[in-house]
Amino acid sequence: MKKINVAIDGPAGAGKSSISKSVAQKFGMIYVDTGAMYRACAVYAIENGIEITDEAITPYLDKIKIDIDYTLQGQRIILNGRDVTKRIREPDATVASSTIAVIPSVRLKLVDMQRAIAANKSVIMDGRDIGTYVLPDADLKIYLTASVAERAKRRYIEMLEKGIKCEISKVIEDIEFRDKNDSEREFAPLRQAEDAVLIDTSDMTFDEVCDKICGLINGILQLG
Ligand code: C5P
Repeated sequence: MKKINVAIDGPAGAGKSSISKSVAQKFGMIYVDTGAMYRACAVYAIENGIEITDEAITPYLDKIKIDIDYTLQGQRIILNGRDVTKRIREPDATVASSTIAVIPSVRLKLVDMQRAIAANKSVIMDGRDIGTYVLPDADLKIYLTASVAERAKRRYIEMLEKGIKCEISKVIEDIEFRDKNDSEREFAPLRQAEDAVLIDTSDMTFDEVCDKICGLINGILQLG
């Protein structure tokens, strides 16, 4: 298969990660969850008592080492040698990741890592700025979205399944907070790239969304 890069962007809870994971598996591509990298930086700040501001966090960036291990069970996120795959999904890390993602020095560090991964492998990379900033020359760009109510419902179910206790009103609040942070930040905000295919998943099943994206990828592969 020729090497291709697929960028999947969209707001929190639009289904990017589960869809990307499934599509990546079908094509034997690597799935890169860039949100997990912002979450790992946030966990570092929380656990080391570092305030999440540009001035406070920038001097520590060299001390944050993030590795992604690709296993058959999925991707593991390793922060300074420790597996934080579960820790990064906890509510405090979720809120802090959105705040830390506004800081340009953090973004630049992670964007370098993301571009390096995509340089020599076929990837499906999901995030907020992949099509607009990280991989502007991606072979396919998708902008995945859904209504706030639908996204909150899905997140709520997902968290319950993972055994994380939460209230739906808190999930809605969290999604609105992150939407605002992501779309209003100055550096690489959440935007649909001009050449991205918009998919509103509010009234689509998981399989319908996967089929649609697989069809688009097959189209690109056939073009050679
Ligand atoms: O995708 P996920 O919800 O795990 O991302 C966690 C946070 O990281 C988001 O709320 C967003 O603010 C930030 N993020 C980002 N750019 C990306 C990926 C995630 O700003 N490419």
